[in-house]
Amino acid sequence: MIKPVGKEYFHLLTDKLHQIANRPLKIMEVCGTHTMAIGKAGIREILPLEVELVSGPGCPVCVTADADIDTFMRLAEDERVILATYGDMMRIPGTKGSLAELRAQGADVRVVYSALEVIAFARSEPDREIVFLGIGFETTAPATAHAVVVAEREDLTNFSIYNLHKTVPEALRALLEDDKTDIDGFILPGHVSVIIGEVPYAFIAKEYGAVGAIAGFEPPEIMAAILKLVKNINASTPAISNLYRKVVRPEGNMAAKRLLEEIFVPSDAEWRGLGIIPESGLALREGYERFDATRKFNLEHRSVKISPGCRCGEILKGIIRPHECPLFSGRCTPERPVGPCMVSSEGTCAAYYLYHGKDTWRRLF
Ligand code: SF4
Repeated sequence: MIKPVGKEYFHLLTDKLHQIANRPLKIMEVCGTHTMAIGKAGIREILPLEVELVSGPGCPVCVTADADIDTFMRLAEDERVILATYGDMMRIPGTKGSLAELRAQGADVRVVYSALEVIAFARSEPDREIVFLGIGFETTAPATAHAVVVAEREDLTNFSIYNLHKTVPEALRALLEDDKTDIDGFILPGHVSVIIGEVPYAFIAKEYGAVGAIAGFEPPEIMAAILKLVKNINASTPAISNLYRKVVRPEGNMAAKRLLEEIFVPSDAEWRGLGIIPESGLALREGYERFDATRKFNLEHRSVKISPGCRCGEILKGIIRPHECPLFSGRCTPERPVGPCMVSSEGTCAAYYLYHGKDTWRRLF
């Protein structure tokens, strides 16, 4: 028998899902790349009414705490300092504006595509202090760890990291512990899983009786994950399924994991909307503290609340959806974002505006 492919396969999976969805379920796609892919393919629109698909905290920019933006920006008060970060961070609003605005006022803020570019700045400008905003999950943390290895090897004294790297499994635990979230299953992030493998998700099934499926990013791969989750829920079989075996090995990427372990140690981290989650951050390990910008510049973490009216925190937990924020598509748009969920190219509010915007989201909900 010839196996159906592409659109045909996608429709087959969708039909099957409609046949088996028989009670209200809440499924969360954890990763921002999935959120965008789901919006682009119109998957939310064709799900059975019983299956609610909410977005989670898997956009690194969105989960960056308000206070961290301000703290990083304060470094620019020192004229020797060059700030370096990925492009997505430039428009996130802090209490005194964004990094893009800071640059427009004359501060030396540079956009980089890799952590190694920052090392190149440190080599070529030894009289300046280069501070890299280390952001992202297990996917980008190995690149930061590698930059630290290179800085150590070359004995660079003018390179440091303002480290906001976070790890995904601990955030999922926090969501499962939260009474308000009520999640039955997770579409687990493909990219993160390439690094960490399957094992770190085992607690989802074992301790919470929920289900998870590691998925790729093509529409049939996402639909296959939803179908698998619903099947497992119907069969009362809490399990973690790996549906992205072409790139995700059960044990993950051992070389990247060793590198992370060599440079970092788990630490508590603050997530927007989710608060402080124990052991969900990656602090520099003993022996590498000299690359920690917080220590080097004696940075004080001051709690602030910016973006009044922004409900990103509830959106990141799947408690509400973007159209339930009164500012969505009115005061808050991708051109004039109020909160990070609208700024980021992988933010839930940006995805809804783009793919379920204005008229569509009214029809949808
Ligand atoms: S629509 Fe804007 S203000 Fe509302 S939650 Fe999203 S980012 Fe925040």
